[in-house]
Amino acid sequence: MLLINKLFAGGVAVPHRKNTAEMETVVMDTPSKVIIPMAQHSGPPCRPTVKKGDIVKVGQLIGDSDAYISAPIHSSVSGIVKRVEPMLYASGHLVISVEIEADNKQELSEDIKAPSVNNREQFIEAIRGSGLVGLGGAGFPSHVKLNPPKDKKIDYLIINGAECEPYITSDYRECIEFAPYIIKGIQLVLDMLEIPRAIIGIEDNKPKAISLLKEKSKNDSRISVYSLRSRYPQGAEKTLIYTVTGRKVPPGKLPADVGCLVFNVNSISFMAKYVETGIPLIKKRVTVDGPVVREPKNVEVLIGTSIGDVFEFSGGFLSKPYKVLMGGPMMGIAQYSLETSVIKNTNAILAFDKNEGDLPPETPCIRCGRCVAACPMNLLPHEINRFVMAGRYNELDKFHILDCIECGSCSYVCPAKRHLVQSIRLGKDAVRRNAKKA
Ligand code: SF4
Ligand code: SF4
Repeated sequence: MLLINKLFAGGVAVPHRKNTAEMETVVMDTPSKVIIPMAQHSGPPCRPTVKKGDIVKVGQLIGDSDAYISAPIHSSVSGIVKRVEPMLYASGHLVISVEIEADNKQELSEDIKAPSVNNREQFIEAIRGSGLVGLGGAGFPSHVKLNPPKDKKIDYLIINGAECEPYITSDYRECIEFAPYIIKGIQLVLDMLEIPRAIIGIEDNKPKAISLLKEKSKNDSRISVYSLRSRYPQGAEKTLIYTVTGRKVPPGKLPADVGCLVFNVNSISFMAKYVETGIPLIKKRVTVDGPVVREPKNVEVLIGTSIGDVFEFSGGFLSKPYKVLMGGPMMGIAQYSLETSVIKNTNAILAFDKNEGDLPPETPCIRCGRCVAACPMNLLPHEINRFVMAGRYNELDKFHILDCIECGSCSYVCPAKRHLVQSIRLGKDAVRRNAKKA
């Protein structure tokens, strides 16, 4: 097969700071309580299926929805439901959540059994039941991805192991610790969806993961492993597709429109584990790092554990953190409370001092064009910023603002320290609101 490994336009060279890469994942003890939000995926939130006072077991269904773009939610502990009400969520909003006081027995629900998977329909149904969403950060329900419209012929399964954000090593550890499951998961999807080939894309700063996956996949000619240039945002879906297939996903279109399905390495590995055990998505590997974290590490955390508890498990802080992020430094969401919970797509929690966490003051744009050169989506960030600041929201469509993937490359390179990505987010919200009104 002809191997394509193209260079995407734009992007930035960021420091890797993969301090935890060679640290084996440590399993955190069951916390005294978990708070499990009902919104852990794209699409409408789930409706709680339990109430205050109910006794629940590990893996028991506690939230579900009739909406197609949604994914069920399961209890990560055994214990008693203490509250079902709106609680603080990682985005800063209040979201209906289920608080469970753990009994420390971790009794498994009787409902758990390995699913029967003999054909495409059974496979998709099983993955829906597992509660799997994109574990790379997007949170898109995986069963929906596995079921593209009938008229879209998929000829590439692409596995995203790029992990281009600084600090985060959660995907890398999955490659090192669970490579056989990644390969099994790929083979499952190839077989069930009758896709002819798969490409695993990993940045070239992870040579051990690349050689391990090459070794584990050597007997399956359908699977190739690509070593990709280390350049942020290599792991963004559209840039990855272009890099490994040469295909461009048009604005407003999806990977399936160009014959591709993309899954994160953790997601594909989970599929194989789920088919083997029937244990739904109740835990997550989280990279805990940053200059003020005493003992950076990768931690296997039960979903619903507070980020404060996870930092505590990592030795606490060397000094009071100035900024805490859920996610990487380029795309992560700042947290104002340590009470928020780890959810399905949390891949890192990072804590910074003022030196690294402070947002520098803006100065006027000098029209140097660096933001334009850095944008992987070929947008004009300085112009969008200008229109947003002037409140000219009705004119933003012409700049294709909704194509922005919020990678932050523009802000990263701007010598005037313009808050470009922040203003673009505001602009996108305004455009969506206007569209809804119309
Ligand atoms: S990089 Fe900053 S200063 Fe340069 S054009 Fe863009 S917004 Fe203006
Ligand atoms: S405009 Fe959006 S896509 Fe382009 S560099 Fe900035 S954040 Fe990334």
